[in-house]
Amino acid sequence: MSRVYNFSAGPSMLPVEVLQQAENELLNWRNSGMSVMEMSHRGKQFSTIAEQLEADLRGLLAVPENYKVLFLQGGATAQFAMIPQNLLADSSKACYVNTGAWSAKAIKEAKKYCEVIISASSEADNFTSIPDPDGWLVDAQSAYLHYTPNETIHGVEFHEVPSVAVPLVADMSSNILSRPVDIEKFALIYAGSQKNMGPAGVTVVIVREDLINQPAATIPSIFSYVQQAANQSMLNTPPTYNWYLLGLMLQWLKNQGGLAAIEKINISKSAALYQAIDQSALYSNPVQTSCRSRMNVPFILSQTELDGVFLQEAEKNALVTLKGHRSVGGMRASIYNAMPEQGVQALIQFMAEFERTH
Ligand code: PMP
Repeated sequence: MSRVYNFSAGPSMLPVEVLQQAENELLNWRNSGMSVMEMSHRGKQFSTIAEQLEADLRGLLAVPENYKVLFLQGGATAQFAMIPQNLLADSSKACYVNTGAWSAKAIKEAKKYCEVIISASSEADNFTSIPDPDGWLVDAQSAYLHYTPNETIHGVEFHEVPSVAVPLVADMSSNILSRPVDIEKFALIYAGSQKNMGPAGVTVVIVREDLINQPAATIPSIFSYVQQAANQSMLNTPPTYNWYLLGLMLQWLKNQGGLAAIEKINISKSAALYQAIDQSALYSNPVQTSCRSRMNVPFILSQTELDGVFLQEAEKNALVTLKGHRSVGGMRASIYNAMPEQGVQALIQFMAEFERTH
């Protein structure tokens, strides 16, 4: 069977070149006589892979020297709890901006550890906008302010980094590596791997090293940034094969020309899709144009009774996983870095043809 264009929000499509390289090296990595899966994480060969991985991520994101780069487990969800446990230090408060379903989950978890101040919320307009940062309530005693630069379900993305007076923490799960970012504006960024960085199983955390020295006294060692940093993220056995696949993804990104180059492609892919939606009478996207996501494009059909047929016919055209999240309904096309421009064009053509025939 030939490959399909998979619009899943995650785990999502991987570049075919990456899959092919993994296939070529599956049994025998660079004449080692072993699969990467079989290597000891403390051995010389795997150390080469791990060092290259960190160097490539630092290079792509231009991570300054005074930031630690960690490769952890537990997904972004584990970070919802680890961030307060590691960053609160002497404070008992943290600020959170609520722009959708993922912010809400981070808030719910943080409430177990501290007083949460909701700095701003777009709940009143169903999470279709971003509250103006000039009006955010930022408590100077807060250990940090947490926000979600890209809301995967609602399709809302910050196109500027907000400037706040306390350390800034960002859940970049669904837009990391999709554009250049100035790491120095952040205290911490984190992201699960299953969207722009490979299969599920690795969580990247990039954190300013001076902020991690006072974790909660009861924190399990495995959740402690300072301990993980001191052990090169190998406090226990890491998911070695996933680290290797993440490394292949980073090399692929470098070959695309890095983040500035991939950003241009992401702008062009998403602009084409939004234009197709805006020009049609059948499809619509509710998000304010200034904060539409380049990664996750939700859209609804004005005739919801056509939803099922739309999905069935899309699948016949090799366009799969377009069903929207159950909480918002409709459709969602996730178009991360690995979605080729041809995939987006194929979707646009299908949507036009579907509208014409229904
Ligand atoms: N944050 C965001 C923005 C997400 O999109 C997701 C996953 N879709 C998560 C957090 C949770 O990630 P994980 O499943 O890796 O815990």
